[in-house]
Amino acid sequence: MKRIAVVGGGMAGVAAAYELARCAREGAELEVVLFERSLRLGGIVETVRKGGYVIECGPDGWVTEKPWALELARELGLDDEILGSNDDQRKTYVLVGASSEHAGTLQVMPDGMRMMVPMDLEALEASPLFSAEAKRAYRGEVERAEQLKAAVPESDESVASFVRRHFGDEVLEKLGAPLLSGVFGGDVATLSVRAVMAPFVAMEREYGSLIMGLQRRGEKQQGAKSTVFTSLRSGTATLVERMVATIPPEWIRLGATVRTIARDGQRWTVGCSEGEQCRGSDRFDAVMLAAPVDVARSLMERVSAEAAALMTMEASSAVVVAFGFPDATKVPVPAGFGFLVPPVSSVGSSGRAGSMLLAATFVDQKYDCRVPTGGRLLRAFFGGAAAERLMGCGNDEIAALARMALARILGPLPDAEVTVVRRWPRSLPQYAVGHLERMAKLDELLDELPGLYLLGNGYRGVGLPDLIRDGRQAVRAYVRG
Ligand SMILES: Cc1cc2nc3c(=O)[nH]c(=O)nc-3n(C[C@H](O)[C@H](O)[C@H](O)COP(=O)(O)OP(=O)(O)OC[C@H]3O[C@@H](n4cnc5c(N)ncnc54)[C@H](O)[C@@H]3O)c2cc1C
Repeated sequence: MKRIAVVGGGMAGVAAAYELARCAREGAELEVVLFERSLRLGGIVETVRKGGYVIECGPDGWVTEKPWALELARELGLDDEILGSNDDQRKTYVLVGASSEHAGTLQVMPDGMRMMVPMDLEALEASPLFSAEAKRAYRGEVERAEQLKAAVPESDESVASFVRRHFGDEVLEKLGAPLLSGVFGGDVATLSVRAVMAPFVAMEREYGSLIMGLQRRGEKQQGAKSTVFTSLRSGTATLVERMVATIPPEWIRLGATVRTIARDGQRWTVGCSEGEQCRGSDRFDAVMLAAPVDVARSLMERVSAEAAALMTMEASSAVVVAFGFPDATKVPVPAGFGFLVPPVSSVGSSGRAGSMLLAATFVDQKYDCRVPTGGRLLRAFFGGAAAERLMGCGNDEIAALARMALARILGPLPDAEVTVVRRWPRSLPQYAVGHLERMAKLDELLDELPGLYLLGNGYRGVGLPDLIRDGRQAVRAYVRG
């Protein structure tokens, strides 16, 4: 009988516990304890279902291209729940010209963009979003393909430097920065391009030009029809709920905060704060550490100071505010999924409500089944320094700020019938330049600590599919021996 501790019940920890339960059903002799500090499993994954609205407080779906979440949903019998994004309406807007005096205007991103890279240069030509100079930079990128290929940097670089080399400053400011901060809440000047934009780095190596790379890949993939994003009708939390339903209830300890882990000969001792379900400390053959990276780092300090040092990273906070309106006609929004606010807009209007917003989603247009008939659901996203400032504010104050920020851009808003505010402090670890090398060193150190696994969004990807893949893979590797 092997005893395994899973520390942290977010997507990563629950996916690991789910896989352990599966292995146990298949005959592996396992006894597992899943320690979760809060009284709820799912961590950042949380869906509020209220009055016909399906409100995502954290992730609202996942990138379809990464197959592991979809595979899991199918395995859990959720085929009828699988919901693709409404890609026929997929338009994203960028707020341009915002300042303390002007709200700015929403300009649509040209069709066929993959992040900041266009597949269709003709669509780009017609777009009012970019100046003539930026359009020239885009065209020039294809012409410079050989030169770019020959000059591929030997080491990692920041996202800012990568985007600037290919397309120049305007594209970086208008699209690169808001797109990346919309996902990572971070600063493009420090984010590692190899860690967060690996497919584009691979394209640069193969083709030099990213536009050319995307076009060639598009040709290869013609016929493959899938939406860009996938979610579940009843929300992403269903994935967690269904996994939890397969985990033996006696394995799960809620309200159980792990305070220490220590190597104990060939085994591990896990110390938990006293609570109804906690027995002080307990011994295990393996520990799967799936708590947020800040917590994991402090737990690792006494196990390996060197490993803990490699786990030191910046993390960005996020604040999400959702508003449900019963009558969509009273909340007119342009067709599309939502808009991004470039950081440059915020520079000009610091201190103003609109300045703090990073992005907003027109939820009912991005996915079906998110609102009662005729309703509208808007979701505002604050990240980075703005989210940090909001962390100490009350819900009413945050909701009022979010409402003002949205109204400034979209026009007056009626009263919402449902409002949800969530703060996620230091929830998005920043993969800084050199991240992959640091993780490779961390893996080497972990080789010396058999039975210890680091899971979660601090290491090998922040998206739900990455976390599911990682958690399940770690379990299979351990159980196989
Ligand atoms: C606002 C927002 C939107 C996002 N949108 C998307 C999206 O659309 N698609 C996507 O794929 N990804 C998205 N992400 C990223 C993704 O949601 C996260 O990376 C992921 O949910 C993190 O899961 P995790 O298990 O690593 O960590 P967490 O969800 O943080 O879980 C860690 C758990 O550990 C527990 N814990 C902490 N300390 C202890 C302790 N000492 N002992 C025991 N338990 C402890 C915590 O209570 C928590 O439940 C988004 C993230 C945010 C913040």
